[in-house]
Amino acid sequence: MTPPPIDLRSDTVTKPSPGMRRAMAEAEVGDDVLDGDPTTRRLEQRIAELLGTEDALFFPSGTQANQTGIALVTEPGTELLLEANAHLVHSEVAGVAALSGVQIRPITTPEGLLTADLVRGALRAPSPHVPRIRALAIENTHNTAGGRVLDAAGVDGLTRAARDARLAVHLDGARLWNAAVAAGVAPARLAQGADTVMVSISKGLGCPVGSCLGFKREWRARAWEIRKRLGGGMRQSGILAAAGLYALDHNLARIGEDHANAKRFAELLSGSPTVRPSAPESNIVMVDLLRSGDTPESVSQRLAQAGVRLAPWGPRRLRAVTHLDITRADVERAARIILETLA
Ligand SMILES: *Cc1c(COP(=O)(O)O)cnc(C)c1O
Repeated sequence: MTPPPIDLRSDTVTKPSPGMRRAMAEAEVGDDVLDGDPTTRRLEQRIAELLGTEDALFFPSGTQANQTGIALVTEPGTELLLEANAHLVHSEVAGVAALSGVQIRPITTPEGLLTADLVRGALRAPSPHVPRIRALAIENTHNTAGGRVLDAAGVDGLTRAARDARLAVHLDGARLWNAAVAAGVAPARLAQGADTVMVSISKGLGCPVGSCLGFKREWRARAWEIRKRLGGGMRQSGILAAAGLYALDHNLARIGEDHANAKRFAELLSGSPTVRPSAPESNIVMVDLLRSGDTPESVSQRLAQAGVRLAPWGPRRLRAVTHLDITRADVERAARIILETLA
């Protein structure tokens, strides 16, 4: 029997473990829209504590939590500064424009890492003609940059630049757990200085559904209203929140293993004449194709047949992501299959 393919396309492919499913089945629930769900509230409070925010709200997706965060910190007809390859720019179907009426102002960076100087350089003198910049969005870790990490000093520089210019700060922390482990600090340290903080439980933590948005207490009613408008009010959401509580207890502390596995994977691919792996800072490895005849689509198809799944990511690139359902033996076998298939 051939083993199932090693799926490195994304850390969203994880399946809930038996323990997680049991926690979900046994969750105490209520109608969260009508009068509250106790397990959902427990998750929100626990996440708020981890983020160092006064409160948090549970969402069905990171995209919806991101969009609510942007709506909270902007007004229609203003601008949002962000890194040019941010998820908010490329992967949320122009939600910032469509839902918040906000113009995005992408900042091009050499390697995906925003700096305080780049933010200052994007500011403009006030004038009746130019749009008023209202907020800065930070992505940590930065997905398309290959899981790159902004450490505490990097974050502080950005939030200081934002404060100096009176900009609000939204943190897209879909993988903030990974950033914190890589930077060697608590998640709250990297969220410090942000007004709204999105974190996902459906990526590194291995839950089937969900993200949270952290913010200050008085923003809860407004955040709730925006979520409702976006269709994100959920009823017995405690079944999903229970997975999050379970993941915080069982899966958060092991995220470093994913980073070690990503390093091992990159190490095994390095020196290959056919592919060049990035040097991973967290759980993402970008794999560049070196031979002109190889395209991401053709290579990913051949690899899938050979037992490894990677995601095409740009004209010469594939993305590999390590996660809860991937072991060290898996990444070692995956690297071997890649080297053999492309040899
Ligand atoms: C996945 C992701 C999101 C969106 O989360 P969904 O739950 O897929 O909507 C937002 N930002 C970043 C950086 C992501 O990687």
